Amino acid sequence: MTGSLNSASGGTTAAAARAVFGTPVRYCPSCGASLDGPAGFVHEYWVGGDRQFHCWCPECYLLCTVVLSQLVTSHEPEH
Ligand SMILES: [Zn+2]
Repeated sequence: MTGSLNSASGGTTAAAARAVFGTPVRYCPSCGASLDGPAGFVHEYWVGGDRQFHCWCPECYLLCTVVLSQLVTSHEPEH
């Protein structure tokens, strides 16, 4: 581990998380604002093989989870 995840306010900043873990979530999925600011929040956790990113956007107040699935199972419609 090369850096601290704690911001001055005691939370984890998106910039700090990306610096340490390389999180791919950098912008709000709703409004596109950067999540790197001191009020932005990105927290990564795992469910099975899926990477999940719990995010807070200080611009549009969106609280969401972005999931990078290890596997997606779907069907192909008939042609
Ligand atoms: Zn937003």
